[in-house]
Amino acid sequence: MTRSKSWGFPRWGGYGNTRRETVSVRMCDWHGCDEPGDCPAPKFRDSPERFWFCQEHAGAYNRNWNYFKGLTQEEAERVQREEMKRARGYQDSGAWRDTSSGVTKEERERDAALEVLGLDGTADQAEIKAAFRDMAKKHHPDANQGDAKAAERFKSIMAAYELLRE
Ligand SMILES: [Zn+2]
Repeated sequence: MTRSKSWGFPRWGGYGNTRRETVSVRMCDWHGCDEPGDCPAPKFRDSPERFWFCQEHAGAYNRNWNYFKGLTQEEAERVQREEMKRARGYQDSGAWRDTSSGVTKEERERDAALEVLGLDGTADQAEIKAAFRDMAKKHHPDANQGDAKAAERFKSIMAAYELLRE
């Protein structure tokens, strides 16, 4: 295969290969994740816009799609936009800030997720599961008709559980 001979030397390959140098690695769009994001996922139902997730988060994101089934497309889009805004604002507001040195990013995320479920660091998987069930039931959009924030809370609870369960 002589055609692939210069493949390993893109800078010598002439203008046909200049694109390689301008493409930067895209990071996973999942809040707090810094893995390369190479799995596209539609931002909204039937939308050409894409999030880019790492494999793990693409899976988590796809599982959460079920949650939107009960919403109209308009509602689902609004919730997702707010969710992304909230995730970024969270970071900016310092809610996820490292308050004590020597704490890893994973531990911080775990603590924040536990807080969402109303638990502390001593919670085991059984307690996490039980708390998730309670919270999901209580904050489910179906049980909170007319409460625009319920969907947001529910999504946070889903995300927290996704992070905590092993
Ligand atoms: Zn990720």
